[in-house]
Amino acid sequence: MDVVVVGSIALDTIDTPHGHVRETLGGSAVHFAMSAALLSDVAMVGAVGADMPEETLEPLRQRGVDLDGVARTAGKTFRWSGRYSSDMNVRETLAVELNVFGDHVPELSQAHRSAKFLFLANGSPVHQLHVMDQMSGPHFAVMDTMDHWIASHQNELKRLFSRVWGVVVNDSEARLLTGTDHLRATRHILEMGPQCVIVKKGEHGAVMVTGEAIFVIPAYPTMEVRDPTGAGDSFAGGVMGYLAQAGEVTPARLRRAVAYGAVLASFNVEGFGIERMRTLTREEVEERMDEFRRILEF
Ligand code: AMP
Repeated sequence: MDVVVVGSIALDTIDTPHGHVRETLGGSAVHFAMSAALLSDVAMVGAVGADMPEETLEPLRQRGVDLDGVARTAGKTFRWSGRYSSDMNVRETLAVELNVFGDHVPELSQAHRSAKFLFLANGSPVHQLHVMDQMSGPHFAVMDTMDHWIASHQNELKRLFSRVWGVVVNDSEARLLTGTDHLRATRHILEMGPQCVIVKKGEHGAVMVTGEAIFVIPAYPTMEVRDPTGAGDSFAGGVMGYLAQAGEVTPARLRRAVAYGAVLASFNVEGFGIERMRTLTREEVEERMDEFRRILEF
């Protein structure tokens, strides 16, 4: 397997101006895996409660995601609910119930420990550090975080930044982390250790900064935005899935990876939860990549 993702597996309740869904499959690891698995082999590590029906994870199996690292434990599955503003640029979290996701300490199998690419999707920074401790051999570890964790785990986050290769956050998280605008924030975060920082800016695209270079990409302009939930995770899935498939991380590969991230995220937002990602094909991804290249040419 090429990419291991560790993060939340959720039942999400989502309200957008386009509709409402209750307890649909979501979670940071799920959105990442549904995206990355279109481009490379992915293993997902996390926990679900005894209340999650076995067939709920079927879309991941159908995508070929290795679910050996998903523990089924006594208790309830992680639940999250959120509501989007009328222009869908602002999200309000209505409820977070960590349940088994809060208690379960992720343990990686021998095979997962030697993966070349690791994505620490949104989750407890304490657990993210524990996963880093288990990795063996050379690897590219990239992490995400969110307001929920930034508020309570500053020290653990700083330790993580000194150990991971890359950080992917959105612009409001970058501001929360550093107290400054997104470009200065990338510098601050780079100074804490990682070699690459990507700040996602929703409908305004993303900025990638490394020690040597800066790369800016717009969002792919889709008119079909129905539910932005998981856009950030599917963006990261596109980035990591492409890098894993390429098998190398070079400046040119990184740029293309970010373009895959933008394209995968644009599909994700076209349906509620993972609805659009379930049926998405590699051919559709490549067609949109070609279209994106044409749009960006000047
Ligand atoms: P995104 O829209 O990319 O920020 O990701 C949304 C996903 O993150 C949803 O499917 C949620 O289930 C999940 N999520 C929400 N809050 C948390 C949290 N505190 N820790 C981990 N995952 C979360």
